[in-house]
Amino acid sequence: MTTVGITTTVPIEVLLAAGCQPVDLNNLFISSPEKERMVTLAERAGFPQNICAWIKGIYGTCMERDIDTVLCVTSGDCSNTLMLMDVLKLKGVRIIPFAYPDRRDPIRMHSALQELAASLGTSLEAAEEVRQELAPARILAHLLDERTWRDGKVSGWENHLWLVSTSDFNSDRAAFERELAAKVSEVDNRPRPDDMLRLAHLGVPSIFAESLYRTLEALGARVVFNEIQRQFSMPGPSSSLAEQYTNYTYPYSVFDRLADITPQLALRQIDGVIHYVQAFCHRGIGDIIMRDAIKLPILTLEGNADFLLTEHQRTRIEAFLDIVRRQKARQGAVSDQRSAFRPPNAER
Ligand code: SF4
Repeated sequence: MTTVGITTTVPIEVLLAAGCQPVDLNNLFISSPEKERMVTLAERAGFPQNICAWIKGIYGTCMERDIDTVLCVTSGDCSNTLMLMDVLKLKGVRIIPFAYPDRRDPIRMHSALQELAASLGTSLEAAEEVRQELAPARILAHLLDERTWRDGKVSGWENHLWLVSTSDFNSDRAAFERELAAKVSEVDNRPRPDDMLRLAHLGVPSIFAESLYRTLEALGARVVFNEIQRQFSMPGPSSSLAEQYTNYTYPYSVFDRLADITPQLALRQIDGVIHYVQAFCHRGIGDIIMRDAIKLPILTLEGNADFLLTEHQRTRIEAFLDIVRRQKARQGAVSDQRSAFRPPNAER
């Protein structure tokens, strides 16, 4: 199988139908013990200091691992990917372009998928068969997500790790499905944990990775909604590949994402929101819209290439959790008063 690097979640069903093995370069980068070196490799090659660390990490990983083919998303991801694509071409990497339609439209998505399938020498029918094959693994990912917010039995980090890995199923879909099935069974046997503050993590996956989730849990708060990671798992029901990737919100506007986020915040009884933004990323501007739309305490947390939370960031998180805790206690007191209050003629 030809290994194809991917720079974000893409219709991997088409790649797999074409006999290619997708490998998510973001996941390779962030899980590497040498991630700092990947960024340095890119900077030595000329990537500016003020470019997102994910882009530099993808470049460094690609060079280090000798990935010779990369599928680059030219619309619906990141403008930096366009320039990364040209630099990779310069280095002799074969590029497969893919553009998400500029708006959510299953007919346009169907055409985009058909074009991708044709360029890879396969068909949408074959890709639909792969979609069916991947369905059990996706269902397991959704079960794990449900156990996260409904039962509190899955940590925010575990939830992140499994959902983010659905972008390429860790390059071994059979092993992924087997291991995730075992994980879900193991989770079911865990005792119910003590109550914690319930948080949402909105935005691109954090460069702080495990350090952020562990810090939050040590401070009595758990992420029970990883927005983008959940999107990678394709949570909505869909009857075709075109519908599945039309429902996928990440390539589209903040308003499209909010249509997914808002009901999830209510369903998962979220107490506070961490909006993660990556330094030098255009998506950070969306914070304005998030703050306007979401009526919960929000902490905007920015990361660059430091990978571990600084003391200053830890202090900000602690202060934020204090606010969330106080607000929750106030709301609890108000609802207690409401339920205690009975109008004089109320039936008992
Ligand atoms: S974090 Fe932003 S700038 Fe960086 S790769 Fe992702 S979309 Fe692009």
